Amino acid sequence: MINDYIIVGAGTAGCMLADRLSANGKNRVLLVEAGGKPRNPFIHIPAGFAKLFKSSSDWNYDSTPQCGTSQRTIYIPRGKMLGGSANMNALIHQWGHPADFEEWVNSGATGWGWDSVSPILRKLETELEHDVNPNAHSAASDFVDAARAVIGNSGSTYNGGDYEGAWIAQCNIRKGKRHSIFHSHLKPALKRQNLVTLTHMAVETLIIEQGKAVGVIMNGAQGRISALARAGVILAAGAIETPALLLRSGIGDGETLQKLGIEVECVSPHVGQHLQDHPMAVTVFATNHADTYKTAESPKNLFKYIFTKTGPLASNAAEAIAFARSSPTLNAPDIELIFAPFEWREQALQPPAIHGFSIGAGLIAPASRGSVSLVTRHVQVQPKIDLGLFTDREGHDRKTMLAAVLLARKVAAQSPLNAHIEGELSPGERANDYDALFTEICRNVQTIYHPAGTCRIGDATQGVISSKLKVHGCDKLWIADASVMPRLVRGHPNAAVAMIAARAAEFISDEAR
Ligand SMILES: Cc1cc2nc3c(=O)[nH]c(=O)nc-3n(C[C@H](O)[C@H](O)[C@H](O)COP(=O)(O)OP(=O)(O)OC[C@H]3O[C@@H](n4cnc5c(N)ncnc54)[C@H](O)[C@@H]3O)c2cc1C
Repeated sequence: MINDYIIVGAGTAGCMLADRLSANGKNRVLLVEAGGKPRNPFIHIPAGFAKLFKSSSDWNYDSTPQCGTSQRTIYIPRGKMLGGSANMNALIHQWGHPADFEEWVNSGATGWGWDSVSPILRKLETELEHDVNPNAHSAASDFVDAARAVIGNSGSTYNGGDYEGAWIAQCNIRKGKRHSIFHSHLKPALKRQNLVTLTHMAVETLIIEQGKAVGVIMNGAQGRISALARAGVILAAGAIETPALLLRSGIGDGETLQKLGIEVECVSPHVGQHLQDHPMAVTVFATNHADTYKTAESPKNLFKYIFTKTGPLASNAAEAIAFARSSPTLNAPDIELIFAPFEWREQALQPPAIHGFSIGAGLIAPASRGSVSLVTRHVQVQPKIDLGLFTDREGHDRKTMLAAVLLARKVAAQSPLNAHIEGELSPGERANDYDALFTEICRNVQTIYHPAGTCRIGDATQGVISSKLKVHGCDKLWIADASVMPRLVRGHPNAAVAMIAARAAEFISDEAR
């Protein structure tokens, strides 16, 4: 069968695209996903997302050794299933800051300013179900009060405009269970006969004929097969796999492709460049509370969750968030604090050993950039992911990260949170000069799992795709996922990715008219 459209990847963007493009009942849409159906029970239990780390639902990437972080490699989880990373994320629902989208316009993304994107984000408010987390620990409210005393507070919500302050997070949770874009958009759309989904099938390369994308070659449960698309192919494989797929298909820097023995289809030097993520150093404090999420899986809490879908297991763990500016001269926040009522150990790969609170200190407007590249042309080999943490020449990110950790300490020392804190465990009170503190930060820094920017919007000299999300130099090929962001939004990007995909479906449908 010849399809009208092939969508590669069923994550946040792929779920939205599949729904929108199949909604008229006429377009024949094929959605290809490398992972399987979301069957792991920890997908559905909000606090269970870290249990998916390094499971078969995770791409389980590692970065290259990071020169800015004492040569450590950093674990990078990405969802590999229908629902993608939206089915393993921390569920925080956030639009982004108006300044983010103004910066998109300044970098060449015409038509992506706040006035253009905010009406779509507002419309998605009813589609992407979310609410303020009703199961947050009492200490999360103490964190909000303490952070507001230090930072101030710009209003009742962080969505819909400018923001600075602290809030209990709004989450995509319904009746105590994850309610991701898989549930809100893909699941209902799967009933349509004109939408076909293939799982456990990874797209290896695009089929490009005379400068036009006409199909894909994929490999997996059904063997190595190809599929054709009459109207085009849309890449929604995320910020790591979308550039890797373009490179395998001969779209990228010409010289690099030739060295890998890949035939060049289209020279596009920005593919895989400009990788951005939000670095985070976790500060951990011992507490006198005896009901932190160290005991989230106690028989009492399990019983409560099974029968009432409430309690710690119904919470998203990253319960409260705060945004601040490291300097009053900035027009938007560049620091985020994330409060979790438990001891965060080794990216949550280890269970809490003591009763503690964690405050993640993150950079949300980092200056450093990394890249995604291929090591070989073979799909089985993980792409090389250089996060580029703390590599900006001016040392801006190092300075801001130090400010972020000092802010986390200040909030922990502030009433009413301080009444429950019994000492700092990490970075540790001994890390009291800048060099010692930065050494400790490098020892435990991770990212907030928000890779973006590797196929950014921009003209052909600056980016990979046009403002209408079409790949420069290759017809009938669109990209609509986190990779297109010229600048990663200041906060949690899932809703912005859904917005990008909703717009992509409009652009693609307009072209077909
Ligand atoms: C642990 C974690 C916590 C997070 N917390 C939050 C949060 O609280 N709030 C928030 O806003 N954001 C959060 N994020 C980020 C957010 O989930 C992502 O930004 C968003 O899901 C990205 O959407 P995407 O469509 O670009 O990619 P993804 O959702 O990652 O989807 C890509 C899909 O493509 C598939 N795929 C890849 N390659 C191929 C191929 N070759 N062939 C076929 N299929 C392929 C993948 O398996 C995957 O299903 C978090 C992410 C993680 C991992």
